[in-house]
Amino acid sequence: MSRYWPLPALAACALVPWLPGLPVFWLTLLNYIGISAILVVGVVVLTGIGGMTSFAQASFLGFGAYASAVLSTHYGLSPWLGLPAAIAVSAVAAGLIGAVTLRLRGHYLALGTMAVAMSLYYLFANLDFFGRNDGISGIPPLNLFGLSLVDGRLYLTLIWAVLVLVIVATNNLLDSRVGRAIRSLRGGALAAASFGVNTPAARQLAFVYAAVLAAIAGWLYAHLQRSVNPTPFGLNASIEYMLMAVLGGAGQVGGAVLGAVLVTVINDQLQDWLPRLLGQRGNYESIVFGLILLAVLQTAPEGLWPHLFRGRTRKRVIAPAEALPRRVMPQAGSPVLAVERLSKRFGGLIAVNEISFAVNAGEIVGLIGPNGAGKSTSFNLITGVADPSSGAVRLFGTALTGQPAREIAQRGVARSFQHVKLVPGMSVIENVAIGAHLRGQAGALAGVLRLDRAEEARLFAEAARQLARVGLAEQADRKATDLALGQQRVVEIARALCLDPVLLLLDEPAAGLRHNEKVELAALLRRLRAEGVAVLLVEHDMDFVMNLTDRLVVMDFGTKLAEGTAEAVRRDPAVIEAYLGAAQ
Ligand code: ADP
Ligand code: MG
Repeated sequence: MSRYWPLPALAACALVPWLPGLPVFWLTLLNYIGISAILVVGVVVLTGIGGMTSFAQASFLGFGAYASAVLSTHYGLSPWLGLPAAIAVSAVAAGLIGAVTLRLRGHYLALGTMAVAMSLYYLFANLDFFGRNDGISGIPPLNLFGLSLVDGRLYLTLIWAVLVLVIVATNNLLDSRVGRAIRSLRGGALAAASFGVNTPAARQLAFVYAAVLAAIAGWLYAHLQRSVNPTPFGLNASIEYMLMAVLGGAGQVGGAVLGAVLVTVINDQLQDWLPRLLGQRGNYESIVFGLILLAVLQTAPEGLWPHLFRGRTRKRVIAPAEALPRRVMPQAGSPVLAVERLSKRFGGLIAVNEISFAVNAGEIVGLIGPNGAGKSTSFNLITGVADPSSGAVRLFGTALTGQPAREIAQRGVARSFQHVKLVPGMSVIENVAIGAHLRGQAGALAGVLRLDRAEEARLFAEAARQLARVGLAEQADRKATDLALGQQRVVEIARALCLDPVLLLLDEPAAGLRHNEKVELAALLRRLRAEGVAVLLVEHDMDFVMNLTDRLVVMDFGTKLAEGTAEAVRRDPAVIEAYLGAAQ
């Protein structure tokens, strides 16, 4: 889609309601579709993109609606001031509710938000202040320049214009530094944390953002309806919004609009037709919806939007930009990493047992050993992904033990993963740019308002440079998970280089590479060594390891068997017995 679609879309919002002969009934329907779509865009960000299932979105709609209703009726405040109030109330409520529920994962989070939704429903329904089950009526309409927007046509223009702005803001957010953090939550949170993303904060932000969109929808709803009562803010309503997102396509913002259109129109038609067909009244449309949902999930599990509009990855234009500042590299040979009697127990299993070794600046150290020796676990202990049972990890003499992964990343430790952890559905270059997360500062608001463009240009210029360095410049705009597994490992190396590391930990980087690709990788690692980077390398390809490394540390069953030059280790009887012998 063109970058300029919002302008014609805004024009259409202004004109469509005035189409001659547009039945009033469609006007009403379009109002509700627009309001629902605004809320469902939030569901897309939170659930489809951020991977958090919430059944409390209608409650935030309620917060928005009641906030403006109470202020404009009880306190006579202008309905326009109700908007910031609605947003503030919902954002604070979401902040508090999120702080409690977002610790939960998966189904537990869904259940937790259901409990919240039910409690809030009874809060709305039982407080005298909120008018109990009758709610609040006599809410004033919106006025603009003395013109009352009570006319359905003007209000429809307003609702759809807000929807267009919400879509633009959301697309801006998703295409920003913070947006990449949110997009990494589903499937890539561990890797993102290893590159400095504050994943709990990103989850909280997505939750608050979705609640704010719901509050805006609630404000529009209150002044359209001119009265509020608890029913539209209950659990059933939240389920219906989830249905819209799932049917339309929870992974894309466009899916929110499509889902809102489909569910609202079909619901309306069914309520019309089913009683005629069946000859009696009842909530039969719910059954039909259940069947439709089953059919869609069977045939188009991602929802209808990606089915109808096959997503082409946009080609990102990399503009020349000022290079990012770099770390001061330590003197070659000076100590960088010290691992001291590090141990990790998993129940009865000792995965890492009192391991000690060091890596200096401008040195490549190989960490080798048979499968299950404890190499990857050691990486996790060094990078803060797992906490050691005992022992210490020091970087430039400072203890890293107990620090979260993002803090360790901040100090210049970057890694790749044995089991590739790229964000699925994100392009290669965006994945690489996550590595530069800590070299930018732009927050969510800067992203939404597009004030981050200069910084983004620098981050992406850096990502492009690192991608070119590993020989994958041609693949920049492809979906990362469409690449061969060997190439995905190389993408991980580019991502790690974007952190401007002092210490680089690579877990089986050459697995799945062809011979000449391995030669190029070895050349790259030699160049990094020459720049003063300290490299710790886990690799099974012995030719690769023996030719490249300055020293080897050999592990077996969690313990260190030997340490020394390739030559010395090769001759060590214990090593021959445990490892090289087994391989031959
Ligand atoms: P390597 O990378 O050398 O092949 P790992 O570090 O992956 O070995 O694993 C070392 C041992 O620890 C293995 O026996 C593995 O099964 C066990 N292990 C690794 N991670 C966990 C975990 N999260 N929980 C339980 N056991 C684990
Ligand atoms: Mg491993």
